[in-house]
Amino acid sequence: MKLQFIKSRACICGNNEYLTLCEIEGFDSKFINKIDFSVVKCCNCGLARTYPPPFINDETADVHISSTEYYSVLKDKESYIDPAERIIKAIRRRKRSGTLLDIGCGVGILLEVANKKYGYQGVGLEINHEAAEYGKEKLGVKIISGSIRDVLAENNKFDIVVLSHILEHIVEPIKFLEMTRQVLKSSGIIAVEVPDFRGFIPQVLTIRGKYWYGFQPTQHVWQFTHVTLEDILKKAGFMILDTYRNKNLNHRFNNDLKGSLSRFVYSLAARLSLGDRILVIGTI
Ligand SMILES: [Zn+2]
Repeated sequence: MKLQFIKSRACICGNNEYLTLCEIEGFDSKFINKIDFSVVKCCNCGLARTYPPPFINDETADVHISSTEYYSVLKDKESYIDPAERIIKAIRRRKRSGTLLDIGCGVGILLEVANKKYGYQGVGLEINHEAAEYGKEKLGVKIISGSIRDVLAENNKFDIVVLSHILEHIVEPIKFLEMTRQVLKSSGIIAVEVPDFRGFIPQVLTIRGKYWYGFQPTQHVWQFTHVTLEDILKKAGFMILDTYRNKNLNHRFNNDLKGSLSRFVYSLAARLSLGDRILVIGTI
């Protein structure tokens, strides 16, 4: 791969010149359409993004899952519980009780874990009305159908705000984080989790020219490292408390020799904090 400069839409720092980090032949998030894309890094601040950039409107950034997929999420619920539980456990090290707002909660699996298992008073915020209704009905959790602006308008404040796999979709993440700061109480904490494109697994897959689903070039505007994620939170006025470069997202392995070997490599990478996602806990 040759290094090259490209010009694209402005980065959050205002610069529009990027350096190509890798070129990937992959698929869209539904694994249907084959697309070529690059991961490029801002020459000024170092934040990476997918190129060409996806066309996303911040107001509707997370309206991309159809109602039939909510059904499949609940069918495969077990594989979503572990990642949710790891986020809650990291929160518990800083705050053992209180009100919690899960922004972009989908059907509310994290809320169910937070409320029923750990006793938090969690509420979800989901811009997709169908998902909100589906979660309320199937999981019995409280979900507000709307955006962060609706919570701000109500002047509601929470002890904890969770952004799990949301920030990478948001075109203007600093503005978005500044709004989330306003819904936090004075000693409140934020938990932000995103895919880590510099994790061990995505690096290996990228070198081998294979597709790592965390890129999702038709949906993910930004590709974070723990450094750029911390940086963006600080720019939005947060103080960093803990950073975890932790376990992998939902990988599935076959029950054959190759599958067992892959499972071993992935779990070793996770134990060494070389997984493919980053979780940062911050405060205001
Ligand atoms: Zn930049």
